[in-house]
Amino acid sequence: MNTLFDDKSLGAFFKNILAKNTLYRTFLLTGPLEYIENTIAKQIAFILLCCNENPPCLKCNSCVKVANGMHPDFIQYLALEQKSISIEEIREIISESSLRPWEAKYKIFLLPKIDLMLEYAANALLKILEEPPDHCIFLLTAENESSVLGTIRSRCQTFSVGPKYHNIADRLAQEYHIEKESAATIISLSNGTWDDIIEIVKNRWQHRSMILDSLLQKNDPIELGEKMVDVCGGDEEIGRQNSKDWIVYIASFWHDVLLCFYSQEKNVDSLLTNKDYIKQIKSLSLGCNIPKVHKFLEFLLFQTKNMIALNVSLSLLWESIFLEMQTLWKEKIS
Ligand SMILES: [Zn+2]
Repeated sequence: MNTLFDDKSLGAFFKNILAKNTLYRTFLLTGPLEYIENTIAKQIAFILLCCNENPPCLKCNSCVKVANGMHPDFIQYLALEQKSISIEEIREIISESSLRPWEAKYKIFLLPKIDLMLEYAANALLKILEEPPDHCIFLLTAENESSVLGTIRSRCQTFSVGPKYHNIADRLAQEYHIEKESAATIISLSNGTWDDIIEIVKNRWQHRSMILDSLLQKNDPIELGEKMVDVCGGDEEIGRQNSKDWIVYIASFWHDVLLCFYSQEKNVDSLLTNKDYIKQIKSLSLGCNIPKVHKFLEFLLFQTKNMIALNVSLSLLWESIFLEMQTLWKEKIS
């Protein structure tokens, strides 16, 4: 498994906590929540819970449990699943924090959307943040630091974190000889973890260019459909799983076309996912039937899911996707 610290100082800081056993117990991490959950909080848990001398080893029992989301001392309330922490949950957290850790030296609590917490829940949380038990580490997260209550902020060490795209891009350039626009695209297509980025680089990147180029040249949809089944790994379960990811990639391309169309005058380059195809996307935004692109995206994101669930053959699935796609180009005016 690969690890990635976008912010080296953050990693060093948490290693320091271990080495010096400092008194810091409460941290506010601000930035994109999904990224904090999937990457930063996990990295902190690896470091603080690892059983080996030079953490994180990523091999010990503890690291494996953190990687699988199964560590009993890493208690995560996830942002996607809830609006914010409720008063009942704060009570749970208070009673849980009074217990010793099950396996590790620390017990880590990950609490999302602190900025959206209701005031009485925030007040209950404050009580525990005022005198946190020695074995507890609280990772509070929020999209915006400025909307977190001052009383909470004053009890936290705050870190603003976020994907430092240029650093990952540098690493991709150095280790995999990938150019800037391509690196930015790969990062946007990924779920933000280094593992996923590398999965795309190694297994999907070349296929993606081949497919996008064939699409733009309007190659035979039937032939392209068959090619796509091969790329996905055949008509079995694995092919179905991979098809879902490829559908998302293709949707992101047409989504970019819409973005370009609706903000023709503004500079949209930085908003696009497929930065390596900016030129083609811009020309499509002028040369496509936009209402049809909307309809196609709906088809791509909703109907294809049903087709996959209903076990429709993958060649049929991909053929219908590519046939639909051929109707998006505006008719030539003669
Ligand atoms: Zn370990």
